[in-house]
Amino acid sequence: MDQRIAIVTGAARGIGAAIAQRLARDGFAVAVLDQNAATDTVDTITTAGGTALAVEADVTVTEQVDAAVAEVAERLGPPTVLVNNAGITRDNLIFKMADDDWDAVIGVHLRGAFLMSRAVQRYQTEQRYGRIVNLSSTSALGNRGQANYATAKAGLQGFTKTLAIELGRFGVTVNAIAPGFIETDMTAATAERLGMSFADFKAGIAAGVPVGRVGQPEDIAATAAFLVSAEAGYVSGQVIYVAGGPTD
Ligand code: NAP
Repeated sequence: MDQRIAIVTGAARGIGAAIAQRLARDGFAVAVLDQNAATDTVDTITTAGGTALAVEADVTVTEQVDAAVAEVAERLGPPTVLVNNAGITRDNLIFKMADDDWDAVIGVHLRGAFLMSRAVQRYQTEQRYGRIVNLSSTSALGNRGQANYATAKAGLQGFTKTLAIELGRFGVTVNAIAPGFIETDMTAATAERLGMSFADFKAGIAAGVPVGRVGQPEDIAATAAFLVSAEAGYVSGQVIYVAGGPTD
């Protein structure tokens, strides 16, 4: 079925890998896009009986994005589901933040989501059906040491609402998931930067989370699975905080 082809960016590991595996389990043929071949994610999916294709692209480079999306259309069929998950952090307090730290983070999250969405919406509008899910963050509400990342994640919320308005008439919904702390390499790197063991870092975070634990990639994958489902067709332009409790 044409409407069951999904692209997940940054899906070599972490949250993206969990989303790709979940969508494959739900019956999607999944293009696992990352800047390096995401063979582990693809192998996990195919071993479990699913369909997956590794696609290499840097989401900030127009030519690579356009070629990757065209390859997915040719090899799997027109992509109707896009999860903009690729992300990086370059944390620093504002007085120490380098130009490159700012540009790299804004580039991957905002330019990346823009380029991917522009390339995929062509197929979605043709099919008159589509789902886009953008990975925001609770950091969009402000987070010390993350001026670049918080700005990008807040920007993605405006991007989400605007695409929801523009693409709704074509049967395309656009939503954002804003995770709190999720246990991945990204948060392990934060613990290392702060000079803490990952176990102590997670325990400290969990103590402040109403449900009493840190999040897992599968928590985000479950939310994404709902948002990309056909039955979520009246949910659009929303930001779903998945953080184990209220966020304000
Ligand atoms: P992660 O473990 O660091 O994985 C990110 C993936 O994105 C990596 O495979 C990375 O590839 C890929 N990537 C980075 N830049 C790319 C580019 N230019 N083009 C293509 N792929 C690229 O991160 P994560 O924790 O799973 O986070 C996934 C998303 O959730 C991100 O958008 C992040 O900001 C968001 N998020 C995470 C948390 C959390 O607590 N973990 C909370 C809120 C939001 P390489 O391996 O080559 O670097």
